[in-house]
Amino acid sequence: MSNFNRREWLSGVAGASMTAAASGGSLKASPVPGETEQGKECALALKDFKPRSKLHVKESEVLTPRFPVVDSHTHLTFIGRGGSERSKISYLASKQELVEVMDRKGIEVMVNLTGGYGPGHDEIMHHFSGEHSERFVTFVEPWYHRIQESNYSQILADEVTRAGRNGAKGLKVLKTLGLYLREEVDSGPLVKVDDPRFDPMWEAAGAMKMPVWIHTSDPEAFFEPIDEYNERFEELAAHPDWSFYGRDFPSDRELQQARQRMMKKHPNTTFVGCHIGNSENLDFVSFCMDECPNFHVDFSARIGELGRQPRRARRFFEEYQDRIMFGTDAVPFGFQTPQQIFGDKLYEIYYRFLETDDEYFDYAPAEIPPQGRWKISGLKLPDSILRKVYNENARRVIRLA
Ligand SMILES: [Zn+2]
Repeated sequence: MSNFNRREWLSGVAGASMTAAASGGSLKASPVPGETEQGKECALALKDFKPRSKLHVKESEVLTPRFPVVDSHTHLTFIGRGGSERSKISYLASKQELVEVMDRKGIEVMVNLTGGYGPGHDEIMHHFSGEHSERFVTFVEPWYHRIQESNYSQILADEVTRAGRNGAKGLKVLKTLGLYLREEVDSGPLVKVDDPRFDPMWEAAGAMKMPVWIHTSDPEAFFEPIDEYNERFEELAAHPDWSFYGRDFPSDRELQQARQRMMKKHPNTTFVGCHIGNSENLDFVSFCMDECPNFHVDFSARIGELGRQPRRARRFFEEYQDRIMFGTDAVPFGFQTPQQIFGDKLYEIYYRFLETDDEYFDYAPAEIPPQGRWKISGLKLPDSILRKVYNENARRVIRLA
């Protein structure tokens, strides 16, 4: 092997090329990417790499859930800045369009978290009253744009109480708190998750028995440089504004600890951490849930994280089966993130993940996994847990009939 040539060996034609050369033929070794001039022709842009798995594994089709579903995390409306004008409200689908999918996919109730604030919220409440009103639940949101008013704490609390009396079933807090909201709304220092100005609002929600769906922080990778080591490189490259790396942003852990301090201070208020409390670290989430009995979670938009650690995830579901709620983060039609597009496919993936032991399947209806290049395996939860996760926990926490 004194003439050993790595490129020829890797391309598997060491013998063939010698034979070809000896016979005067023109057979060439296949290039190895990155090693030779020829190799450059093999370079493939990451966006064009769409490998198709050759595993021969079971593929179950789960068209409907074993038990009726309450989707506790959806966005059916959005409200523009200010929220005091009807024209600022976006309805992302008609009630009829929504109900058709819900009926096909066994979804009894959808919880519309982004129900706005002020007059816009009232308008949204009105929209979901009347026909099919029993199929939709609407939450209220904090009115951040009034932050500079002197009695801001009371304004927030009063608005929650007013909305609750009007039929809002809960309070939704986006990651705005902790990552976007600043002292002058868009400028100045960031407002912290445990800022005491919000204390009366948390207390008002508790007094009204309105649970708080709270999104704090984001995937850990969003706090790291967008480089070749970032496991969510493609997602961040497509949405660079989702990065919280550098500048004056707190760390993921600082945000989560602030939420923890805040929840401990308001033990009579029920909190539901969106996206498994926004952590891939189930040991840490478990620690938070043990410390705060008033802390629950939904798993919307995180089956990609749970399903790539299916054994640990199943233990998590077993241990906290009374405090985990089904949610998808669904946004009707045409949204740019495939893992959130409301429709049959999205729900079928969630049902397959919860109910089967299928291995290595896509967590989103997309050619390229949108939150990271991996696949998931199912949890095959028993009926006793499925029933709680699909609807009983949410019905209890949201106080649905
Ligand atoms: Zn959401």
